[in-house]
Amino acid sequence: MRYFLLFTFTLFVAAQFPIPLNTQNKMKPVGPEQTQDTPGHDYIPLCVGNLKKSKQMKIQAILYSSNLPVEILIDGKIIKEIKPLDNPPRGLPVVCPGFIDVQVNGYAGVSFTDHDLSVEGIKKAAEGLWEEGVTTFLPTIITADGATIRSNLKILSKSLENDKLSGSIPGFFLEGPYISPVDGFRGAHNAEFVRLPDWDEFRSFIEASGDKIIKTTIAPELEGSMNFIDKCRKAGIVVAIGHHNGSAEQIHEAAQRGAWISTHLGNGCANMIHRHNNPLWAQMADDRLTPTIIADGFHLNPDELSVFYKVKGAHNLLLISDITKLAGLPPGAYDWNGKKVLLTPEGKLRLPDLDVLAGASFSIRRGIGNMMKYTGCSLEEAIQMASSNQARIFGWHDRGSIEAGKRADLVLFDIENREVIVRQTILGGEVVFIK
Ligand SMILES: [Zn+2]
Repeated sequence: MRYFLLFTFTLFVAAQFPIPLNTQNKMKPVGPEQTQDTPGHDYIPLCVGNLKKSKQMKIQAILYSSNLPVEILIDGKIIKEIKPLDNPPRGLPVVCPGFIDVQVNGYAGVSFTDHDLSVEGIKKAAEGLWEEGVTTFLPTIITADGATIRSNLKILSKSLENDKLSGSIPGFFLEGPYISPVDGFRGAHNAEFVRLPDWDEFRSFIEASGDKIIKTTIAPELEGSMNFIDKCRKAGIVVAIGHHNGSAEQIHEAAQRGAWISTHLGNGCANMIHRHNNPLWAQMADDRLTPTIIADGFHLNPDELSVFYKVKGAHNLLLISDITKLAGLPPGAYDWNGKKVLLTPEGKLRLPDLDVLAGASFSIRRGIGNMMKYTGCSLEEAIQMASSNQARIFGWHDRGSIEAGKRADLVLFDIENREVIVRQTILGGEVVFIK
């Protein structure tokens, strides 16, 4: 009760001074903008460890949602108490719940779909994502032959024997293979392996994953897709629609049957579409569909991000990275499955021969800054789209917010020119990255 009252007090004070974090309000005593002057300086040791025999930590920081200084007591893996901090020292970082990315194809040279996937590789990718403030993610396997999908799901399942990996990876996302075969809508998925929904095959994927497929994307116009959605929903698997050219009727029926998500809305779509009858309008109009969006600054332009934010609201959008194995690597030319791919210094991944995007290279850390920049949303809303919404929609009730009793998944960061700069990442009460 005491903890509840303390947190309530913090929120109460915040309610008296509702200062959006995305404005240049000079009234606030401390806040993200103030840390701009002192990056890396006046740095207070954030973790006062080992207070008692049990593993305890105290964190002093600016709470992302109220913009007020707080002290957070972590006991073991759990947040025990949050209380207002009087006389805060200068240079405190902002604290928010760990970022949750539900579409990660790979990172730091590791692809979850490639044949050379290993538990070591999955660990390397996870460590790279922790540096970006991502504490929960869904490794994503895209369209491939059945044997490859099963083999890689088994390796992913094996990696969960590692405690820290299982803390970060609640399950896996299968994007395809039951998607549109049509160029443009198919995106970069291999046409050779795109096919119609096959529940028997999909059951073999579930089995190989150790029952850890949490989400899948299908095209609703494919023969058998509606039955497939029904079966997924019965199996407790979140269904997304994506890489599709479904009609309005097919999209609404998919939502009616329980499809919840529109995969990377605005991408996985042909460049030339009918101005009235296209897959975008119906997905935007249907409140039952929550879009995932790639806000890396390349996949969607600022007006598209702004429209999605206005139509769906901060409560109903999920930032994803859709990053690939070349993310987290230095700029340069790479050979990727026999194709030349350029990673530019700006972070754009391009196929130079075709002059098209070859995937994403920025984590959702960058998306948070871009949403504030392009839509005018507050930091609180941007974090909602990068963490809280994911936790709510996928039912991960132990994370996605900073409250007593929740798992201590936290990111401590500064904001410089509306970009999140991570100082520390804490996963289940353990510091997994320190700058
Ligand atoms: Zn995709």
